[in-house]
Amino acid sequence: MIVCKFGGTSVQDAEALLRLAGIIRARRDRQPIVVSSAMGKTTNQLLEVAQTAARGRKTDALDLLAKIRDRHLREAQKLGIAVAEDRVWETIQAYFKEMRDLVRGLAALGELTPRVTDTMASYGERLSTLIIARLLEDQGLPAELMDARECIITDDHFTRAAPLFDLTDAAIVERFHPVLRSGRIPVFQGFIGRTREGLTTTIGRGGSDFTAAIVGAALDAEDIQIWTDVDGIMTTDPRMVEHARRIRVISFDEAAELAYFGAKVLHPATIIPAVRKKIPVHVLNSSKPDHEGTLITDEAPCCDNPVKAIAYKSGITVVNVTSTRMLMAYGFLKKIFEIFEQHRVPVDVVATSEVSVSLTVDETSNLWDIVTDLKRIGEVNIEGSKSIVCCVGDNVRNIPGLPHIAFSALRDIRIQMISQGASAINITFVIDDDRLPEAVRGLHDAFFQKVDPRIFE
Ligand code: ADP
Ligand code: ASP
Ligand code: MG
Repeated sequence: MIVCKFGGTSVQDAEALLRLAGIIRARRDRQPIVVSSAMGKTTNQLLEVAQTAARGRKTDALDLLAKIRDRHLREAQKLGIAVAEDRVWETIQAYFKEMRDLVRGLAALGELTPRVTDTMASYGERLSTLIIARLLEDQGLPAELMDARECIITDDHFTRAAPLFDLTDAAIVERFHPVLRSGRIPVFQGFIGRTREGLTTTIGRGGSDFTAAIVGAALDAEDIQIWTDVDGIMTTDPRMVEHARRIRVISFDEAAELAYFGAKVLHPATIIPAVRKKIPVHVLNSSKPDHEGTLITDEAPCCDNPVKAIAYKSGITVVNVTSTRMLMAYGFLKKIFEIFEQHRVPVDVVATSEVSVSLTVDETSNLWDIVTDLKRIGEVNIEGSKSIVCCVGDNVRNIPGLPHIAFSALRDIRIQMISQGASAINITFVIDDDRLPEAVRGLHDAFFQKVDPRIFE
């Protein structure tokens, strides 16, 4: 059995959906499970509808909602889903009626809670999978539309809920086994779940990859396939460097590091369930179903290149904490990290000196509360508009001259922080946002002038 996850662009219109059906048909004998995102851009638009409504602009919100509805109906119609007395058609209409009621409620209340945000966002995946299940049926592929909220049980941290694995794994096994035994193809929503009390949650933006891995691990899948809009995991984001190369094989550790430091092609949490069960993950291009993509596996084979890929995150904030009390004292770092933990804000890069600590965060919604708490420890200063650039590779730890190559590539760029050694497979720089393209291209040129054909295409 395999899990095939399709991202937003891979289900964005009728044409893409027909490709999806072809991909599933070709894998029919491997018992595929479909996990799907919302149709491309839908999640952003639904969130915009909710925000617009809560700001009191009800008509604008309803107009945007009508556009989203028309798009779904149009693509459904192109796939032959009939207008009159069709259950799928009527369900789409019913979902939009529910959303219009939500919009009216939000406009009246003038407030958008994370809980309602998740309810609104959940319609994206519920709509796309409704259409996919029907399409597969129409194509002679017996499908069963499932409700992810009956399986993915999470805590109540709305918008970034964490799955409760014991409950979730048991529910997945219970719900999927009868469907698989009957020979039907389960069609499952990515991204959404519910609390134990039954409230709809989402597991963080880009979370459908994570859903696919959770389902794959719970059912001991032989393969988890992430179908997307690029040829696989590339040496860097092809939107930044056009001539980025495809990586044929990469280890779980390397892929996790890349995802964590911003390579959007994979949600950072995806790897965890896959590693737990040692299930290989493939990243594949849904426009080129016969291409081999990237295989993420337990151990990557030898590679002559020290660096496998370069990831980046922009819009990062650096927090500097200085205190002379830190000199020769212990427990200082602990206090600082406790504050970030209390506010549930992850820290990405850390550098320390005798009397100061610099940390980077990419989540700034409650930064001022954090600063207030940090000020009890020392002087605090904040610098925004920074970027993290991270060179990842299993060989990074073994190659003595590697920092020299990186520094030469970045020689004209002010480097604010450097980190190497924490995971041993990355070297990370913090620079100004406006130098990011130059830095990524410079590092890419330096590390991928010659590539090992066993690993790169
Ligand atoms: P999906 O909707 O299929 O989940 P995403 O937009 O989340 O797709 O992720 C795919 C995008 O990730 C690509 O279009 C690409 O711009 C970006 N990306 C960033 N880093 C990389 C990388 N190293 N390799 C491939 N794609 C990358
Ligand atoms: N639709 C969700 C998002 O846009 C989840 C996903 O696509 O992975 O974030
Ligand atoms: Mg994604």
